[in-house]
Amino acid sequence: MSNVEKTFSIIKPNAVKKAVIGDIIKQFESEGLKVTAAKLAMISKDKCEIFYAEHKERPFFGELVEFMTSGPVLLMVLSGPNAVTKNRQIMGATDPKKADAGTIRAKHADSMGENAVHGSDSAESAKREIALFFEPYELVNA
Ligand code: UDP
Ligand code: MG
Repeated sequence: MSNVEKTFSIIKPNAVKKAVIGDIIKQFESEGLKVTAAKLAMISKDKCEIFYAEHKERPFFGELVEFMTSGPVLLMVLSGPNAVTKNRQIMGATDPKKADAGTIRAKHADSMGENAVHGSDSAESAKREIALFFEPYELVNA
């Protein structure tokens, strides 16, 4: 059996506004990740601060929360072999200037902050992040 795992993904407000949801999902699907839960929603400020708690002391925290709550986002669970690592590869580096050509951030980021997508950094983070945004009954088995 291959190492099928789940990761948490957000299509951020700048990418939803630019109407590139389809393009981004197409890239996930063509590179082996399946969408196994999804909803378009606004994130509340309180929840966003919990979600990004690890960055609370960073200088960009206020701006990050403001951006992430500025418009609708697409919250997703992606499933597939090594989904956490695979998703990070497909997304590209946090700083779009450093993102490899062809990655989602290279194509759709507008800046370091407005970098189009979020992806969990570990299986542990994925578990916490999925539980923050989805009820167990909303998760489909891939
Ligand atoms: N971010 C920012 N300035 C920075 C570093 C990060 O605005 O100097 C934002 C950016 O949107 C990033 C998010 O904060 O995606 C979380 O940062 P992290 O280092 O966890 O990057 P990621 O895991 O998203 O690649
Ligand atoms: Mg991170």
